[in-house]
Amino acid sequence: MPAMPENVTACPLCGSPDSRLFDERVFRGHTVVNRLCRGCGLVYQSPRMTAAELDAFYAREYRQVYQGSEGPTPKDLAAQRGRAESLLGFLRAAGVSPTRHLDIGASAGILLRRFGEAFGCQSVGVEPGEAYRAYARGQGLTLYADLDALRAADEAPFDLVSMAHVLEHLPDPVGYLAALKDGVLAADGVLLLEVPNLYAHDCFEVAHLTSFSPHTLRQTLLQAGYTVMALHRHGQPRSELLPLYLTALAHPARGKPPAVQPERGVARKRRGGLLRRRALERLFPHRAWKPLKGEDA
Ligand SMILES: [Zn+2]
Repeated sequence: MPAMPENVTACPLCGSPDSRLFDERVFRGHTVVNRLCRGCGLVYQSPRMTAAELDAFYAREYRQVYQGSEGPTPKDLAAQRGRAESLLGFLRAAGVSPTRHLDIGASAGILLRRFGEAFGCQSVGVEPGEAYRAYARGQGLTLYADLDALRAADEAPFDLVSMAHVLEHLPDPVGYLAALKDGVLAADGVLLLEVPNLYAHDCFEVAHLTSFSPHTLRQTLLQAGYTVMALHRHGQPRSELLPLYLTALAHPARGKPPAVQPERGVARKRRGGLLRRRALERLFPHRAWKPLKGEDA
């Protein structure tokens, strides 16, 4: 189990040093403390693992902590298939049809293969987990351990970069997204993002360094130099009713980012969102949570 000694002294979105305690709990043996930025309303984990601990965690321990296995499990693969269909639907609705697709956090490569089938595009992935990378390579996919290895291999640029349930794991989400515009995502390319929704998802996990609301996700994209084309709240593939996830489509913007617009009432919105979730779960249990195909009932 990693220690978590690093205090975050500046908000990852607005840079403010001023924060207050938002949530504290134990997640699978780890104490997880989340703070609320008094400047902009972003919720982020502090203290948290250092960069070196995070690297080691994702290379080996993450999948063990989350699913008790280093390699893909049937349940995990079923979840990824459902998510790939959902994300494909968002892209089609937006009229996006990529020719070169990079999936960051490619996991077992399910999304890469599905988009490759749907669009006939070339597919490349980045995945830090060794067992997952090996699994996806065994399926004939091209995967790299990180962006540096991808850049060294001269694969970029891409007209679609997807990051499904990745941004909330990154220590510097604004900096990471901004760096993608430097030769990885084409100037006229599209970024597809999905994260848990702070206002419906029980999101305070040890690996989630930031918990985004619709507002703070949009502000993060703006600060990183993107224009937001669409931002959906939805539950697919897990729920017909609960807005568990936020999916955004964005493209690189020109010019300087605007000042961060703060969000107010974050604690009240979180409480209200979770109350609504519990009510929907009681009233409509079969629509609130759908079984995954391939998952045991
Ligand atoms: Zn802030």
